[in-house]
Amino acid sequence: MGVPVSQMWTVASYVLRQKLRGIERYPLVLMLEPLFRCNLACAGCGKIQHPNSVLKRNLAAEECFQAVEECGAPMVSIPGGEPLLHPEIHKIVEGLVERKKYIYLCTNAILLEEHLDRFTPSKYLTFSVHLDGLQDEHDRAVCRDGIYEVAVRAIRKALKKGFRVTTNTTLFNDADPETCQRFFDTLMELGVEGMMVSPGYPYEKAPDQEHFLHRNETLRLFGKLLDRPKKSWRFNQSPLFLEFLRGRFDLECTPWGNPTYNLFGWQKPCYLLQEGYCGSFKELMETTDWNSYGRCSGNPKCTDCMVHSGYEPTAVAQTFGSLKGFLRTVKVTLFGFGASGTIADESATELRGPSPEAESTLVQIQESLPSMDDSGNTGMADSVNKSEVELLTRP
Ligand code: SF4
Repeated sequence: MGVPVSQMWTVASYVLRQKLRGIERYPLVLMLEPLFRCNLACAGCGKIQHPNSVLKRNLAAEECFQAVEECGAPMVSIPGGEPLLHPEIHKIVEGLVERKKYIYLCTNAILLEEHLDRFTPSKYLTFSVHLDGLQDEHDRAVCRDGIYEVAVRAIRKALKKGFRVTTNTTLFNDADPETCQRFFDTLMELGVEGMMVSPGYPYEKAPDQEHFLHRNETLRLFGKLLDRPKKSWRFNQSPLFLEFLRGRFDLECTPWGNPTYNLFGWQKPCYLLQEGYCGSFKELMETTDWNSYGRCSGNPKCTDCMVHSGYEPTAVAQTFGSLKGFLRTVKVTLFGFGASGTIADESATELRGPSPEAESTLVQIQESLPSMDDSGNTGMADSVNKSEVELLTRP
């Protein structure tokens, strides 16, 4: 099963409407974090380092609906924390389905099998299961043995019950392209609708600071990973974003495309950075100094970021809102990644004007390309110990 045509149509027509109205900045996917607590404490996660008083809290279903209506994005991603620990998560999902929002409920799947009966299969609901690799890689990434098997069992069960299921994978600098390719094969054999892959963001608070990818490492890794993609691989992300990850199409971050709402309000400026909060979506859009973010801004916190939450909305906007983006998407879709042409083209500058570093960056990418062809935590979050995690993670 692929992405339903109705979802593609909803997104395409939404983007075109914004374009026709001359709206430059618009949200595409609301990142709705209804809680921060989790039943895992992964080494590369920078989301759960809050005091217990915060980890215990949940957004009420009504607060979630209000944020969704205020924002107006056609898609809602529910990360966390682990959303299945939220006592009202089924009500939140029901309310969003009623509002005809396409929902990606991100889960580590530990509780998925036992909680499936709380949900009804719908074209609007997709379980996006966190899997960072095959058994060894995934269990190491989530710092607990046996989680891969639990997740795979839950995926099978969810698919059998008729739910849409995708996967989300975060890659770090120890990722081996060949092992990843075998992992993609395995996911396709499992029957998931599509895979989402992204490099990890170097969260300052993440316990493991050694394995984040720098920009050139990301380009090199994805260059190898997608060098000869199999026709059987289905990605749940836009071809332009994958082209961007392999250095074949330049994009600039549009952080307003994936605005984040959580227990503190509307997070500035993006899902990854916490630089203040706003009381309303309008305030977020109007008071954030957007020019201070993204690679072209020179902000060091953005230098190595190529994460989907910043760049996928740009890719979608380019696909449906620019001829060049549309043509490249068609070309890649019809003829595969090998058909793509120039490296790191000028699309990003169309969004924000030329960056002072643009020329040297392009040269850098060009220079790095020949080498492309040559080619864990038991550590708990700062404020959480094991027993606290058990206490906090009871649904
Ligand atoms: S580049 Fe990354 S860290 Fe910077 S604003 Fe965009 S998404 Fe956030």
